[in-house]
Amino acid sequence: MGRLLLFLLLIALAYIVWRTLRNALAPPASAAAPPKFEPTGRCAKCGTHVPRDQLDAAGHCARCRAG
Ligand SMILES: [Zn+2]
Repeated sequence: MGRLLLFLLLIALAYIVWRTLRNALAPPASAAAPPKFEPTGRCAKCGTHVPRDQLDAAGHCARCRAG
């Protein structure tokens, strides 16, 4: 029984070390590229703001186009 506990403890320790190393090696959040700005437009019918490329020529969102 003692051996099993020691085995589980070793696994837990290895997991903690792996996580710590992974976090240390990962680039800091500030170094990551800023989120890309996506222009949005307002649906002419329902008023929902959606990405502009999802509006059709009449300015309707996909839901209003279908219905
Ligand atoms: Zn709409």
